[in-house]
Amino acid sequence: MTRHQHPSLRFLGGTGTVTGSKYLLDTGGQRILVDCGLFQGFKQLRDRNRTPLPVPAASIDAVVITHAHLDHTGYLPALVRDGFTGPIHSSKGTAQLCSLLLLDSGHLLEEEARFAAHKGSSIHHPPLPLYTAADAARSLKSFRTHEFDERFEVADGVDVTLIPAGHILGASQVHLGIGGTGIHFTGDLGRPDDPLMYPPRGLDSVDVLVTESTYGNRNHSPEDPGEELGNLVTRVAKRGGVVLIAAFAVGRAESILLSLSRLLAKGKIPAVPVFLNSPMAIDASLIYQQHREEHRLSDKDFSAMYGLATLTRTADESKLLNLRGGPMIIISASGMLSGGRILHHLSAYGEDPKNAIVLAGYQAGGTRGAALEGGQRTLKIYGEYVQIRAEVVSMDGFSAHADSNTLIGWMKEAPTAPRMTYITHGEPEAADALRLRIKHELGWRARVPEHLETVNLRNPS
Ligand SMILES: [Zn+2]
Repeated sequence: MTRHQHPSLRFLGGTGTVTGSKYLLDTGGQRILVDCGLFQGFKQLRDRNRTPLPVPAASIDAVVITHAHLDHTGYLPALVRDGFTGPIHSSKGTAQLCSLLLLDSGHLLEEEARFAAHKGSSIHHPPLPLYTAADAARSLKSFRTHEFDERFEVADGVDVTLIPAGHILGASQVHLGIGGTGIHFTGDLGRPDDPLMYPPRGLDSVDVLVTESTYGNRNHSPEDPGEELGNLVTRVAKRGGVVLIAAFAVGRAESILLSLSRLLAKGKIPAVPVFLNSPMAIDASLIYQQHREEHRLSDKDFSAMYGLATLTRTADESKLLNLRGGPMIIISASGMLSGGRILHHLSAYGEDPKNAIVLAGYQAGGTRGAALEGGQRTLKIYGEYVQIRAEVVSMDGFSAHADSNTLIGWMKEAPTAPRMTYITHGEPEAADALRLRIKHELGWRARVPEHLETVNLRNPS
């Protein structure tokens, strides 16, 4: 077929950053976008969300989504609003989680725009949200769901298989076949020892591999993160403080609750009140309960986890938590302190040294979470400066990402070397460290692509 003679891949996001994942496949007549993420963190990255895509949204035939996190899906409402009319393919779990995450994202963007208008702090007149909750609701209608391992056509002569990635519920590796060439996207790859998810499926023989590299230059501590959390909770409870845990509403909130429920059962932490302040995390748990086959949680685990926590749904209940004081534990989103209810808790509790702030996942450069992790102690929250005197603790152990050793070990198991490996979804140091390991330890060809670069898939270089 002539139109498949020169298939190409263009990196529209996820290069030099863990955000904005968007990979455009052009078969020479049809366009397929793998992931459609939002840029987050540094301002120059976030500004890219306002720059039109290099191809018209209407010219894209189909989208395939690896998993529900916003750095992989958060641009979908804008894509549909801007004229994309094709299907959005994903696993069932991903589609269900997207119905929570994308609507929430639309609401947050509207709220931010309203706040900017109120403060007059925006250069846009009047400040417009990147998209609205209504745009998000419209994009949800385009989802088409598939079982894992079911091979389906996304365009003429282009087939896709979703393969379990073990990262969060529904998370998939995406394998594309284009006229005999196999292109494999890891999406975000999970950990073999994740307390929630089963291990990612092994890598088969592929022509081109596009891998994530979030932890390309780091390995998770072999210590049980539960120990560390238990010690912290005990220490802070003793001084009457609040433990404020920043967790991705989907995935991390569940593993923190599971860890707390096990610590409590073993008598390793005092019985301090726990609040799960994220309506989305509460709804996400119901979706996890519908997909028992995808994770390790039993009925007993669910009842221990959600029996432990008081669920905070309304904004008024959330505000009351700021008056309550310690000892208590609050789990809230967002995980990188870039928005959401946790910001109000940071304002309320961040200044008191008897409290503690736990960063329970990867903190992308340019976010408040990364600033705190890097030692900055003045945060700007809703236009006000907050001095952080609370103890700040990073717990990488709760990460849902494979670390450097796990990624290399996973690649090593592949029956043959890909002709080319492109390293994406990592900040520059992480991506380059993984590149060197792939080159030296596996002897594979590997490269970190540039933003907006196009590569030829038949002759990848
Ligand atoms: Zn993810």
